[in-house]
Amino acid sequence: MLQMNNEEIRKAADFFTQEIAKLAGNRSVRLMEVCGTHTVAIFKAGIRQLLPENVELVSGPGCPVCVTPNNYLDTAIAYSRKSDVMIATFGDMLKVPGSSSTLAAEKAQGADIRIVYSSLEGLELAKRYPNKKVIFLAVGFETTAPTAAAAVLMAEVEKITNFYLLSSHKLVPPALRALLSSGDSKVDGFLLPGHVSAMIGLAPYEFLSKEYNTPAVVAGFEPLDILQSVYMLLRQLDCGVAKVENQYRRIVPKEGNPAACEVLSTVYQAADAQWRGIGHLKKSGLAMQEKYQKFDALLNIPVAVEETKEAKGCQCGNVLRGLVLPAACPLFGKTCKPEHPIGSCMVSIEGTCAAWYKYGAGRWQV
Ligand code: SF4
Repeated sequence: MLQMNNEEIRKAADFFTQEIAKLAGNRSVRLMEVCGTHTVAIFKAGIRQLLPENVELVSGPGCPVCVTPNNYLDTAIAYSRKSDVMIATFGDMLKVPGSSSTLAAEKAQGADIRIVYSSLEGLELAKRYPNKKVIFLAVGFETTAPTAAAAVLMAEVEKITNFYLLSSHKLVPPALRALLSSGDSKVDGFLLPGHVSAMIGLAPYEFLSKEYNTPAVVAGFEPLDILQSVYMLLRQLDCGVAKVENQYRRIVPKEGNPAACEVLSTVYQAADAQWRGIGHLKKSGLAMQEKYQKFDALLNIPVAVEETKEAKGCQCGNVLRGLVLPAACPLFGKTCKPEHPIGSCMVSIEGTCAAWYKYGAGRWQV
């Protein structure tokens, strides 16, 4: 698909949009793009405008920054106030609101917070600053969790004793199960995240079709990938079948990446986890295996954390469950903007509210 010239791409896009309209007919179809990268790609390419009005795309809980709960930020902020601690974090996390502060505000007041691009950079900081306890903010899904696990394994081999993870990793399949079992999201099909699927393969999604009769397609991130994936979902709906299909075969092997999964399960085990705005979901996160708990910040570095408070009026939880569009939040575009986010969905470029704010001008009243 990537080797097609512009004319071929245009013809293929025409074909998929026409077929989607035919297959949709008069029925209302609600499809969820689980991944924040899909949300941005859909906006950038104007995919919503290419679809008939009765085919709706809603965003799901697939932006790692968005689903990180308040109390996690409060804990990171409390750690950052300790003089012997250095926080290593992805830049997006700096602006995410905690209950009463942000990491950016703490950094401005002198907290030792370093922006890194990988967990291994966090490990390097621990080597360079042996007098500091370096805490890497380990957030994200099955895509980033193996790299955090690899950093722990390297720290173990190299006998680094001042490197820790504050883990808030999340697992995608349990979140989809929670959405479907709650019954209020009314999703007719899922565009599954390509990056996560490259790690875990197709098998962990089988329950979507088998237990919930809901079609799913692992989708790539090019505009044509997304259009083709929507077409594949509608074809399943039209035939009355539900299965897990793989549109992104050029990147996603059916079995995923067994080596990465092995690293993950060596260091981590599934555990219950808190999702911002969604709540406590069974076996939806990762906790360290006993052997590696010496790298768990919470278990080894005592800290007093303030009581969690949620921002009044914030609809992030409903946005992440696909129940409302960002424009339905009374704070959207008023007090909550990318330069001053009230909720996490307005922080990362992959956040639904941030994407709506950036690309949705003129369409906010949907
Ligand atoms: S507009 Fe802001 S406060 Fe409202 S749901 Fe989005 S991120 Fe949360």
